[in-house]
Amino acid sequence: MTDRLIGAIEAGGTKFVVALARPDGTILAEARIPTETPATCFPAMAQFFRAAEAEHGKIAAFGVASFGPIDIDPASPAYGTFTTTPKPGWAGARFQDALGEFGARIVVDTDVNGAALGEWERGAGHGCTTLAYTTVGTGVGVGVLRDGKSLMGFSHYEGGHIGVAHDKTADPYAGFCPFHGDCLEGLAAGPAIKARWGQSLSEAGSPPERIALIADYIAQLAVNLVLLHMPDRLIFGGGVMKTSGLVEALRAATERRLAGYIKAPQLDPGLVKYIVTPGLGDEAGITGAIALGRRALS
Ligand code: ZN
Repeated sequence: MTDRLIGAIEAGGTKFVVALARPDGTILAEARIPTETPATCFPAMAQFFRAAEAEHGKIAAFGVASFGPIDIDPASPAYGTFTTTPKPGWAGARFQDALGEFGARIVVDTDVNGAALGEWERGAGHGCTTLAYTTVGTGVGVGVLRDGKSLMGFSHYEGGHIGVAHDKTADPYAGFCPFHGDCLEGLAAGPAIKARWGQSLSEAGSPPERIALIADYIAQLAVNLVLLHMPDRLIFGGGVMKTSGLVEALRAATERRLAGYIKAPQLDPGLVKYIVTPGLGDEAGITGAIALGRRALS
């Protein structure tokens, strides 16, 4: 019997990574498509899968791990539709419209939930009952899994937009979030760093006080994740987290802010095992999209 092939889509704010994969995760074809607008991106995506099908065989299911906000409630009539995204052209765009011609089942979740799933199955989250995955890049996003299932309420979580303590004397930057100004994303995502210092955290040669400032904002999310979800581990990925010294500063700031309140074997001294970077590196997203596709198969 031939494999039932999976179409996997990691839909990011800058680019889509699209892949045709076997259920075991083997990637048969892969491409990158600029996100731009649905009018250019969706036809290019469909064209990739048409060509991949012609070469490798019928696609049985699609797994989509996407930027948002997006409707990820399978019971909703708008499942798979972008909602209030400020990204021009994307509000109202729907994956089912772009992929309907293939007649395959489609599972849609957020990019961070997808990455969390990838890490839970094959990366740094392996063995965790509750796992939180955060990306700090062009934005800040959080996904929480329990037993490999992403948690949500009436919509997916928006942990990147929590309010954080902001000392305007130490850090006069007003924040860039169009909704909240100085929410976590508004203060600590890549664009905030660039707007504040004119360069990325790593380009700046990583002065310790800059790293400490950003680490302390992110630590406030880490503390809230512990308090609200008691995860077995926290994974922090994304472009900003690649800054040398940042994860170490984040561990220190989180431990200081937790202030010894939570006593549990999961919280090792120094949080070296508790707060980690992705085991799959940049492959977490597409691995998660393939995992979502695998779920669509079953
Ligand atoms: Zn915000």
